[in-house]
Amino acid sequence: MAKRRPKVPKKIETEVLVRCKRRCPLCFGIDGNVQEVRGQIAHLDRDRENNASKNLSYMCQKHHDDYDSPRSQTKGYTEAEIRLYQEELEGYLAENPLGTWSYPAPRKQKISVPVPSPDLYDRRMVIYRRTRDFLSQVVGNASCSLQDAFSFAADTHEAQFIFDAKFAAYLQKIYEHALHLHMTETLLNQLPVGEERSEAAQEEHENLLWLYDQGAELAKRAHPFLRLS
Ligand SMILES: [Zn+2]
Repeated sequence: MAKRRPKVPKKIETEVLVRCKRRCPLCFGIDGNVQEVRGQIAHLDRDRENNASKNLSYMCQKHHDDYDSPRSQTKGYTEAEIRLYQEELEGYLAENPLGTWSYPAPRKQKISVPVPSPDLYDRRMVIYRRTRDFLSQVVGNASCSLQDAFSFAADTHEAQFIFDAKFAAYLQKIYEHALHLHMTETLLNQLPVGEERSEAAQEEHENLLWLYDQGAELAKRAHPFLRLS
């Protein structure tokens, strides 16, 4: 007799549905679609008996089908890819209270921030310049010392009070990437030539590219806070 698959327990099912608010990680990650979709719960490791909450993801019908039956000719969606989109989706939902969702591309929202007083403007500008200089230093040297990363974090700590939580979280992300760059660098110096080393080198390369892109991204994100009129 065929073994019956255990059903996803109700409590876990609810947790999975609520944390993504019935949004599909692939619709979000690939198409920028943040609308509710009709779907099902997928098993990320493709083991239908593994009903651990972190192994489950709500997906629209189409993406669930694509995920469950990857064609041999083309590269199917990977588990790591979905986990990343899932994480981004949950981050997005946490930052955007109900009612402010838009379709498509959540990133295009206009932020309206009141024009700052001259004093506030100056204090924001100090942090903006500090971040800009830090980025060009790190990207210019293709390297970041632990000391430099720590002093950047200390110097920009006040951002949470004089910008907003989202902007402060963005600076935190820059700090984390710089720290990660330092860690990968240290690792690269210790690893012998081989697959692991190539992976670390690739990671360092991607991290640097990300940091490089933040020059323009920083200006864009700081702009609403540094308007003079
Ligand atoms: Zn989908």
